[in-house]
Amino acid sequence: MGQSRGIIVSLVLTLVASILLSSLAPAVARKTANPKPLQSPAKCEMPKFRIVVDAGHTPDSYGALSARNDPEFGFNFRLASLITAKLRSEGFAATRLLVTDGKARPSLFKRVGTANDGRADLFLSIHHDSVPDKLLETWEFDGAKSHFSDRFSGHSLFVSQQNPRFATSLMLARMIGRQLKELGLHYASQYSLPVMGRYRRQLLDRDVGVYRYDGLVVLSRTRSAAVLLEAGSIINRDEEMAMNAPERQELIAGAVAVAMKEFCERR
Ligand SMILES: [Zn+2]
Repeated sequence: MGQSRGIIVSLVLTLVASILLSSLAPAVARKTANPKPLQSPAKCEMPKFRIVVDAGHTPDSYGALSARNDPEFGFNFRLASLITAKLRSEGFAATRLLVTDGKARPSLFKRVGTANDGRADLFLSIHHDSVPDKLLETWEFDGAKSHFSDRFSGHSLFVSQQNPRFATSLMLARMIGRQLKELGLHYASQYSLPVMGRYRRQLLDRDVGVYRYDGLVVLSRTRSAAVLLEAGSIINRDEEMAMNAPERQELIAGAVAVAMKEFCERR
């Protein structure tokens, strides 16, 4: 997708995001300092189970830029929307899509505030991956100097040990990772390597690719269980194309839905 089309998509998403945001509960970033677990139901009833699917970043603060100069937020919004629709159609009727606007850091607290105020049972944040700047290489795309790295690919899952429901979060992350693995998709193994520098993480499950990421606001300040899914790398030129394909998006949404059902049955 070219740059001018990317700008139009971004403008449309801005509009959609503001409409969606206005339909959400008051997004107040209060009481996020010391998350306390809420009383949760003894068992998971699918129609009542409140899943918040968070589209990572905002139209203003769009996250990574893909190898073809498309903002990460667009990828996140499309996949998060699809996952939300899939979960609702599979019986999780209380699933809602969370889209926030504004600058990066305040938007994180806004997300957590909305999820906590709405007494979410589960928070699932959807992102797409890039690489640290030092690993970027240059190429020309659409006549513009652009950046890429084909060195790494794959999805990854993150949970925080500071989340009051860490064990539950880890259980769900493992279930999602298992489903993605069974589809033949591989996880991004580089997060455990020294080359990642400050982005290096502790690998909690080396079979299905679950990492510990305590510093992330949306994972550590949410009162509900919380999982962040980096669905794939958009700085990798081949994987960016795969992530743009509706077939891949359907596969991932389906995998999340199967994992959620398994998670619900086990509770
Ligand atoms: Zn991101």
